[in-house]
Amino acid sequence: MSDKIKVGFIGVGNMGWPMAACVAKAGFELSVADARREVANNFVQQIGGRAPDTLRELAATSDVIVTMLPTSAIVSRVLTGGEDNVFAGLKPGTIIVEMSSGVPSVTQELAEKVAALGATLIDGPVSGGVPRAKTGQLAIMVGGEDAAIERAMPVLSAMGSSVLRTGAVGSGQATKALNNLVSTGGFLIGIEALLIGQRFGLDPAVMTDVLNAATGMNNSTQKKFKQFVLSRKFDAGFTMGLLSKDLSIALQIGRETATPTPFSALCKELVAAAQAMFGPDADHTEMARLSERLAGEELGKGT
Ligand code: NAD
Repeated sequence: MSDKIKVGFIGVGNMGWPMAACVAKAGFELSVADARREVANNFVQQIGGRAPDTLRELAATSDVIVTMLPTSAIVSRVLTGGEDNVFAGLKPGTIIVEMSSGVPSVTQELAEKVAALGATLIDGPVSGGVPRAKTGQLAIMVGGEDAAIERAMPVLSAMGSSVLRTGAVGSGQATKALNNLVSTGGFLIGIEALLIGQRFGLDPAVMTDVLNAATGMNNSTQKKFKQFVLSRKFDAGFTMGLLSKDLSIALQIGRETATPTPFSALCKELVAAAQAMFGPDADHTEMARLSERLAGEELGKGT
């Protein structure tokens, strides 16, 4: 049954490639598209599926269309803009799953336009990064109509081990932005603690082990500090520019809901400063280097 669903996947970057590979592995008929044509062609060569010449053709031959693109502005362009777009080929009954970490209000507007064409848009942003995208074990936060979610479920299940329903369309992306806000706070406070500890004479690697066995543990202490910061690799596969965008979305929701956000605003400003210092293409784990500069201390040095 599920292998009869035809999937069109737009955006095969750091996340989209392994996610689309999981869809192919699950046996769905797959078409891929990317602004970098050579990347879409490489995907077809290495993984399988086809890369239609146009978005119109991809849309016309897909039952479920996944978008995994950097921003909502780009998603809007891909769906409705330019000379070639998804709307040009969209069939009634098609389900678009917008899996980018986007702006909820923009996604809700797009969902209305999609509905006017007889199709349905749901949002399903993800958490878990490149490692869990590779193993098909992402956490997917899905917002939208139950019937559309049910129909897209076989495709979602190929990419994620937990599919969490968050409410109406846009609610997945709101949840996602707020998740990344929490994740950033955990990263920044953890790095600050390691810097204090190192100055006190503690070994940051030992301290990370202790945090992970104690109540200070969080995803960054477990999966980022030793792997990407203390190793000085800074290659987690999620850029500073994308994280900065997520925090802007979280703060925008804070403003729209008149919620005071002093701590969130501090996190956002620190990420903005790190982005100004290291550039939007730097890995987000380079946030630690901003904290190090402020402290005049490099983690792991001399240990
Ligand atoms: P990426 O930049 O690696 O990939 C985006 C892909 O979209 C690229 O291949 C790019 O060529 C393509 N693209 C850009 N404009 C396009 C257009 N107009 N038409 C077609 N293709 C276009 O980004 P990523 O890290 O894969 O992130 C994708 C989304 O997932 C973002 O919204 C990001 O915030 C979110 N996300 C990323 C991670 C992560 O760890 N990298 C984790 C969770 C969520």
